[in-house]
This record gives sequence, C-alpha cells and structure tokens, in this order.
Amino acid sequence: MDLRPICLLAGLATAMTLASPASGGEGEIPAADRVPLTAEQRRWLEENQPLRLCVDPDWLPFEAIDRRGRHVGMGADFMDLMTARAGIETELLETEDWPETLQRARQGDCDVLPLAMETSGRAEFLNFTEPYLETPSVIATLDSRGHISDLSKVSHLPLGIMRDFSFVEIYREQYPGINLVEVDSYEDGVAGVQSGQLFGMLGNMASIGYAIQQMRAPNVKISGRIDGDSRLSVATRKDEPMLAEVFEAAVASLSPRDRQEIINAWYQVQFEEGRNYTLFAGALAVMVLIFLAGLFWGYRLRTVNLGLEQANRKLTELTRKDSLTGLYNRAYLDVRLSHALAHCRRNRSLLSVAMLDLDHFKQINDSLGHAFGDQCLRRVSDLLREYFQRATETVARYGGEEFVVLCEENHAEQFIAQLERFRLMVASEPVAFEGQSTFLTVSIGLWSAVPGSGDSALDCLLRADAALYEAKHQGRNRLIIRRGTPRGLFGRGRKA
Ligand code: GH3
Ligand code: MG
Ligand code: MG
Repeated sequence: MDLRPICLLAGLATAMTLASPASGGEGEIPAADRVPLTAEQRRWLEENQPLRLCVDPDWLPFEAIDRRGRHVGMGADFMDLMTARAGIETELLETEDWPETLQRARQGDCDVLPLAMETSGRAEFLNFTEPYLETPSVIATLDSRGHISDLSKVSHLPLGIMRDFSFVEIYREQYPGINLVEVDSYEDGVAGVQSGQLFGMLGNMASIGYAIQQMRAPNVKISGRIDGDSRLSVATRKDEPMLAEVFEAAVASLSPRDRQEIINAWYQVQFEEGRNYTLFAGALAVMVLIFLAGLFWGYRLRTVNLGLEQANRKLTELTRKDSLTGLYNRAYLDVRLSHALAHCRRNRSLLSVAMLDLDHFKQINDSLGHAFGDQCLRRVSDLLREYFQRATETVARYGGEEFVVLCEENHAEQFIAQLERFRLMVASEPVAFEGQSTFLTVSIGLWSAVPGSGDSALDCLLRADAALYEAKHQGRNRLIIRRGTPRGLFGRGRKA
C-alpha cells in the first residue's frame, strides 16, 4: 500500500480531531460528554494505565499505523474521543499485521483493540462492547460476471478472504463446505480474481474498493452485497472485566453526530487533498456516505443496492482513467484492445492501432519544468479527445508521454487523414503555461491490418511501436504507416 495518503491524512485528521471541542485534553471535555465512571473503575484505571492498544496496522480508512508509528484512521479518532472523555491513557503496541495483533491479544499482551468484530473464537479471550461502527460486506468479481446477491450460490467456487478475518470463521459456520482461500492482502485477492485463480474476493466495501482502485483493475467490479455486515466493537482483554465496563460506558458516550463527524473527516479530507486521492476519494465518499453513515441509523436494502450500483459505476470509471489527463489508462486500453482484436478477427475487419509519442519531451521538461510538461500532456490529451470522438475510436494514455488511439473501421483512410490533421494541429500552436511557452511536436506510428489468428494484442502494439520508431528515426513530427502482417508490410512516411 502507498503510505503517502496515510501520512497526509494522519496530519489533517489529527488537526481536525484536535480542533473539535470534544477531543482535547480531559480538562476541555464538557461535563456532559465525560464518561461517567465509578470510583472503583477510576482506581482500577489509575493502577493499570497506560492501557496497551493493539490495532490493525494496514486497514485504512478504518485504521493503520503510519510511517511515524502513529495509530491513524477512523478507529484512532474514535479511540481519541473515548479515551479523552474517560480520562484514559494508552500506548500503542506495534504489530506487523492483523494475525499478529490477534496472536498478541490471545497471549494477553493487549489491553484494548479499538475496532474488532465479535466471533465465538475471539470471545474466548476478548470481551466486546456494543458495536459502534458498521460496514457492508461485498463480493468483487470479474466485470463479466453477473450480480451476486446470495453467497450460497457461489460458495463452492474459490473465494478470497483476508487471513484471520472474523468472517473466515463466520462464513465457515454459515456455509459448510465454503471454498475460502485466505489471502494476505486485499490486493492479492483482487489479483487472484484477475488471474482467474479466485472467482471472487470477499470483504468490506471500502477496503475492496481501495484495492481495486490502487491496482487499476478495470475488469474487476463489486458485484454484490452479501450477508454479514462488519459490526465493529471495542475489544478488551477477557481477564479484566473492569476494562469491558469502562469501554462499554465510553462507547455509549458516542453520539450519532460524533460518528458522522469522524466518518466524514476521513472521506472529506481525502476529497480535498491530492489529485490521485481526490479521484479515489470521490468514489469512496459516494460509497461511504451511502453505506457507512447511512448504516448507523438503519438502512433500506433497496437504497443500499442502488448506492452499490452508483458507487460501482463511479469506481469502475475511476479505475479506467488516467488521473493527469482524464484519458483511459493503459490497463483499460489492454482490455479494449483485446476485445477489438477478437471482434476484428471474427469479422475479418480492419483494426488500426496508432502509437503517438511527444518529441524531445525530456528537453521540454528539463528546460521548462515538470509542471509545464504536465500542461503539454493535458493539451495533447484535449486535442486527442477532440479529434478522435467516434464510437469506433478509443484514445488512451499508454504511459509517460505516449498515447494510443485504436480505430475499428473497415477503411483506414479517414483515420489516417484525422491523425495527420491532429499532428499538424499539435505543431501549429505553442503550448503556453504560467508565462512560458514552447512549440510541441508528436511522432506517430500506425499499424493497420485485418488481424490474423496468431496476432496478439502485444503484437499489434509492437507493430505500431515499430512504425513509431521509424518516425523518430526519420526525423520526428511525422506519421509512418505500416499495413498488413510483418511479412506483407509496406509503408510510407508523411513528412511534416
Ligand atoms: P523522443 O523524441 O525520442 O521521444 O525523446 P523524449 O525526450 O520525448 O523521450 P524520453 O523517453 O527520453 O523522455 C520522455 C520524458 O517524458 C521523460 C520523462 O521525464 C517525461 N515524462 C513522463 N511522464 C511524465 C509526466 O507525467 N509528466 C511530465 N511532466 N513528464 C513526464
Ligand atoms: Mg517515449
Ligand atoms: Mg518522447
């Protein structure tokens, strides 16, 4: 997982928490918000503080340990609020992963786990408060699968689930013979779905959504809401019943408004910060506002399913797009190209693949700066969008300063003419940004043919790339066309 957002968010979330009236030191807590504790409970706390906190180190937005060793996430904010109100001191006991956290709790090393779900296995060594945070469980599968609303229908298929998560135990009891495959991360689960080793990945919506987006997995979607919402409680060590009473009172002090503020903080902060996270947070904000916040005060299944559909659509869109230019990304291009290839092969129709690369872009970056370079990429992308709008055309940023345009039309002449017009347009006007300007040119390699049975998507791209290489070699700012199979190639250059 990329830790940048954790640090960024940790700082902001902490600032927001400290700014709220309820979460300063104990002295600032309004009397009405203080957790009422008995003299005996206070004495017990005085003798046993600081309490050792054990958490999941990698489970944002719920909780995590950031690079500086701090507990962050919604669980951390809830814990700050509760401990401030009850006058409790804590210290964090760091662990590598959730299985280790559970192991340490079982050994009696932990006093409190801020966010844990009750299971009969865990109840042997932990007490649980009333649940205070609920989140829906979902299944993610390949895009091509239908909607799944009943886990029993697919329980014989290999389903990924996070190792040692509460639902491993719960689903095994509920669906005897369920084919669960324990994975070490949500990313591993999504990769398993992509490779076909897993039919689906099970888990909470926010974490799965995050993994799909992080991995840019446009062919994986959340395909249904399944049984078993995560109902998260504070867990305390079993051998100290006094601790359970204290945290029961602390949880009871949380108002609907406290919950709403903490949930919103974790999503709105992301929404305001950082380009990449803004995009992801957009999707998450939709999901979370619909799912998490709504779930506190009761929900209607129909609303949830509608929300699921909307959130899924938004998430799918985000996983397909490049954040700088808004064009489709490479992952999605690969999907489209293999569909186009299969379609053209079946119908014996023409497929054209154009690969475009900005000329001497490194020089532009070096002399005018990276921000200027980004502006050039956005300008070229805007022109691509403008020039290649037909339903038969797909434009993508292939990476860096390279772009690909696919065209599925049975004659390539119109496409070639349009590529030429585009190339001339790029060269005709300087790019201007923050007081600087420069002319920009682009080289284009086009491969156009009726694909044969042995042609892979990679072959198509390699042939377009070979034509692009030729365009660079011949002096740049030109279009080189290659038609047919490698053996039957003929080409021509169009000089600027
Ligand atoms: P050529 O004409 O042979 O293509 O030369 P070039 O300088 O364009 O090619 P080269 O591959 O040497 O350099 C590509 C540059 O593109 C290097 C890299 O810094 C820049 N680049 C890649 N991605 C981005 C980006 O997202 N933003 C900016 N500003 N620059 C990028
Ligand atoms: Mg390049
Ligand atoms: Mg280049």
